[in-house]
Amino acid sequence: MSDHRADDKGPGGPSDTGAGKRPAATTADPLELIEQCLASFPDNDPRQQILYKLRHSVMLNAASQQQREAEYKKISEVVGKLTAPANRIGTLLDLPGEGLARIVVGGAEYYANVDPRVPADVLKIGTQILVNEAYAVIKTLGYDRSGPVLKLAEALPDGRLRFEQDMGRQSMILQRSSDLAGVDLKAGDELRIDPGHRIAIEKLEDRKGKTHVLDEVPTVTWEQIGGQQEAISAIRKAIEYPLLHAETFQQFKFTQPKGFLLYGPPGCGKTLIGQAAAASLSKLVSESMPDGGKGEKQVPITGGAFLHIKGPEILNMWLGESERMVRDLFAKARARRREGALPFIFIDEAESILGTRRAMRSFNISNTLVPMFCSEMDGIESLRDVVIILASNRPDLIDPAVLRPGRIDRKIKVSRPNRESAAEILKVYLREDLPLDAACVAGRGGEPAKAFQSLIGDVIDTIFKRTDENRVLSIRLRNGQSKVLYRGDLVSGAILSSIVQRAKEKAIDRTIQAGKPAGLVPKDLLDAVSEEFREGEMLPPDDAAEEWLKLLDHHPDQVVGVSSFRHGRQTEERLINQII
Ligand code: ADP
Repeated sequence: MSDHRADDKGPGGPSDTGAGKRPAATTADPLELIEQCLASFPDNDPRQQILYKLRHSVMLNAASQQQREAEYKKISEVVGKLTAPANRIGTLLDLPGEGLARIVVGGAEYYANVDPRVPADVLKIGTQILVNEAYAVIKTLGYDRSGPVLKLAEALPDGRLRFEQDMGRQSMILQRSSDLAGVDLKAGDELRIDPGHRIAIEKLEDRKGKTHVLDEVPTVTWEQIGGQQEAISAIRKAIEYPLLHAETFQQFKFTQPKGFLLYGPPGCGKTLIGQAAAASLSKLVSESMPDGGKGEKQVPITGGAFLHIKGPEILNMWLGESERMVRDLFAKARARRREGALPFIFIDEAESILGTRRAMRSFNISNTLVPMFCSEMDGIESLRDVVIILASNRPDLIDPAVLRPGRIDRKIKVSRPNRESAAEILKVYLREDLPLDAACVAGRGGEPAKAFQSLIGDVIDTIFKRTDENRVLSIRLRNGQSKVLYRGDLVSGAILSSIVQRAKEKAIDRTIQAGKPAGLVPKDLLDAVSEEFREGEMLPPDDAAEEWLKLLDHHPDQVVGVSSFRHGRQTEERLINQII
């Protein structure tokens, strides 16, 4: 033991060389010294055996020394990594040149170098990047997977994207990520943006049923509407004049309306009239005004847009959702306007969302929609920006705040068709170029036009005759009177169009069965009338008293009970549960 200690302290001992350090260069290689010793001994000298053993032991020592050195190196590397500072993460904003990047790291922007070992194809605008202490980009991490989602307000021609916040009071412009470059984006699309609000990263797929707004380009012409001349001319006066003669209105200090209310029973053409107004007015403005009727942000009108929503559908189940939908609706309209369309907002069954407190009680909610709707409406400067059409069969229930001058102060009645109007409507659907049975043409004057006219007369007589067979409903009024309503009292444009549809189906069936053209015969139409009133979906089921009320031209408050006649006999009277 004591010898060992003495050796340790001696020159050339392990404590002298230090752990892992090679022996000093001056020290001769022990193996070489051993070889020299061996060579100096005579052959078969017994000391050679001792030297062989020594040589073996020296070789083993050298091998383990090497292994220790390798392990030490590995541990030093790990310690180095664990004690190095972390790399910062930033977002790549632009690639202004070879080997250069504009980046944002922790809110500050840098014009940085890119490590040449980073492949060019992974350097995408909008991705997250790692930077070293010198802020050089050393790695990309792909797109951030989370971040806020915003609705696009406008895709600018140069590719940048505009978003609106705070109900359109604030705008924000963002760049597109590399993956959004060239992607067709339109107003209303939902985009996920980077958490730093610099770059729009990805387009989110439309959530099904998320919006109830039907957005279409209106194509209906006035000719496709039968009857309703009064309503049509009232509308033209109500919006064509202020649109086309805005200066005259200004001179007379006349408050321009923002739209109008169409009221009347369901299926009589309110939507159709709204669509025709949208199509014809946008065309008129774009054609007759040299500047295209510049309005919001000076964009000329080049087309039309019809944004259609059904009131009850946006009376949504969770709090705040219906408000969001109304806001979306106006935002969408403004976006359409910026694209050059004259947008018409059409709200069907408007009383359900814009009703007075009394009307809204039935939906058991406090109506925050009315003030919101009014403020959105007041934000519209003129009819050249957005036209609003409300449709309702209970105009008395609409909150008067909505119907104030300067808002929706025109009420236009869309009545149930009388005999003449019903004939006009049938004329729209029974056009002369439809195949009509030859015998029918021959028996009715020989000309298709005359034959159709006389056929229409027959159908009208069948619908409007006051026979027992034609009874549909009996109503009992508050004043004690009872009244029978006949088919003619409940007919609508929708019913007439459906009758023609049924008749055509019959003639088509016959043509296919016979393998040769078979024209319409009068019986097709007359059978279709009975079927439509008996089985059609335009009239409610017998027991749906509340639904029947919506069809009546009587004020619902006046009706105490209804009973239907649909199956040839009168059903039991249903009392009206007066909720409205
Ligand atoms: P409302 O909005 O009043 O409930 P719609 O305009 O939706 O009624 O009418 C429903 C359908 O009935 C229309 O798509 C059309 O086919 C038909 N219709 C209603 N009124 C008329 C009319 N006056 N002329 C032609 N078709 C009509």
